[in-house]
Amino acid sequence: MNITMKFGGTSVGSAQAIENVVQIVQEAVSAGHQVAVVVSAMSGVTDMLLNSVQAAVKGDKWGFIQLNNEIRDKHTNALHELMPAGRNRDDILGQLDAMLRKHQDLCEAISILGEATPRIMDAIVSYGERMSSRMVAAVMADRGLHAQALDASQYIITNDDHQNAEPLWLETAERIHSHLRPIVESGVVPVLTGFIGAARSGAVTTLGRGGSDFSASIFAAYLNSDELIIWTDVDGVMTTDPRLDRRAKVLPYVSYAEVGELAFYGAKVLHPKTVQPIIQKKIPLRVRNTFNPRHPGTLIGAETQDTGHFIRAVTCVRKVSMLTVSGKGMLGVPGIAGRTFLATARAGASILMISQSSSEQSFCFTVVDQKAQAVKEMVEQELAAEIARQDVDSVDVMGEVAIVTVVGAGMRHRPGVAGKVFSIMGNNNVNVLSIAQGSSECSISFVVDERDIPVAVERLHDLALEAAQAEPSRA
Ligand code: ADP
Ligand code: ASP
Ligand code: MG
Repeated sequence: MNITMKFGGTSVGSAQAIENVVQIVQEAVSAGHQVAVVVSAMSGVTDMLLNSVQAAVKGDKWGFIQLNNEIRDKHTNALHELMPAGRNRDDILGQLDAMLRKHQDLCEAISILGEATPRIMDAIVSYGERMSSRMVAAVMADRGLHAQALDASQYIITNDDHQNAEPLWLETAERIHSHLRPIVESGVVPVLTGFIGAARSGAVTTLGRGGSDFSASIFAAYLNSDELIIWTDVDGVMTTDPRLDRRAKVLPYVSYAEVGELAFYGAKVLHPKTVQPIIQKKIPLRVRNTFNPRHPGTLIGAETQDTGHFIRAVTCVRKVSMLTVSGKGMLGVPGIAGRTFLATARAGASILMISQSSSEQSFCFTVVDQKAQAVKEMVEQELAAEIARQDVDSVDVMGEVAIVTVVGAGMRHRPGVAGKVFSIMGNNNVNVLSIAQGSSECSISFVVDERDIPVAVERLHDLALEAAQAEPSRA
């Protein structure tokens, strides 16, 4: 089999974790599989790199030097534990040192300019994955694996939307197919950088925070992998975020559609775009635990399984604001919603959820807190004439709200689901501010006050747990 395996930040975050990674890959290779590995930066390193940019912008030289040292120590300590002293270790330490020097040079340049462009920020954060891939490949080689660190920027070609770049699919497919596939087929284990790509100009781009899952899925799709395994720090996709409710249970099977909704609405375990590249080829995706490799994890595939239970998982997105556009003059006037959403896009914000009242006199939508003010201003500018005529009121912003989502393929064609969800909310005194149903019909999302998150999530999670209890286990 050809397997693409992605190891997240915690999975490469310490010497012990990297030891587990090497063992997992060694076992797969010994079993006769071709393996391509994708790695994230060591846990915390992407944040440190971003903080170094902030320090540089402020001219805080000691700030970025200190971060540079912390990043160096993190890698060096792990390497000292993992590899014996000698030429190979010196060689990899030398490579990391060269990157850290470049990082410092870039920070110096930013501190002189007093500002950082998205392009230079991408160049800086890319060092996280570039360092971890070299380190992991060196340890694998030391343990006898035929491993080679490779930069994904050679293969994943993107547009130049820095910090949130989109792959250019045809070029990416071509590069992976012609240049990477032969490497994998020759028995080499490539250790690829997650998260990063390159624009046509050659400038490094990144795919958005948590984007290594997406990178791995792109590689799996164009390497024609038989399986994609996302190795992380939990046993699989769970009924809710275990940090929100400790009773969370692993779901043995989830469909692509269900996991797409879960990820979009806050389940950090997978990047929202992860399933996109593999859906068409129906490549099975597994989520497994690097620290508990005996656990079979969660299998994610095309088939939807109607378990007879309508709520399988609950998620939540915090730090969002709900914006309401309303006015007596809106009734029957076409185009107001369209213009509002275009203005939102111009403000650089993505809409997480939309809902409209049947009276057509108002609709509301949610964006992340940081963008709310900019969106309000842009929309008010767009609707200035209507606001002046008092057909539309000024845009109302309600902050400190959250989106709670329930997911389950079984809710499709089953009446009464929304009724049940909202009567549970009512019985628990949770005020529901707006409601929307996902187009795939396997999710219902609603907005509540941030304070109501624990009650809302836990009471709905009761239902997901009941359902999980009744599900057959499946490896
Ligand atoms: P990685 O560094 O491996 O990419 P992440 O931290 O991005 O790992 O994602 C794993 C984390 O996602 C888990 O530690 C868990 O706290 C969180 N999480 C949120 N929702 C869920 C869920 N429904 N199932 C499993 N994990 C979840
Ligand atoms: N290292 C990147 C991040 O922290 C990408 C990833 O881990 O998936 O966002
Ligand atoms: Mg992640």
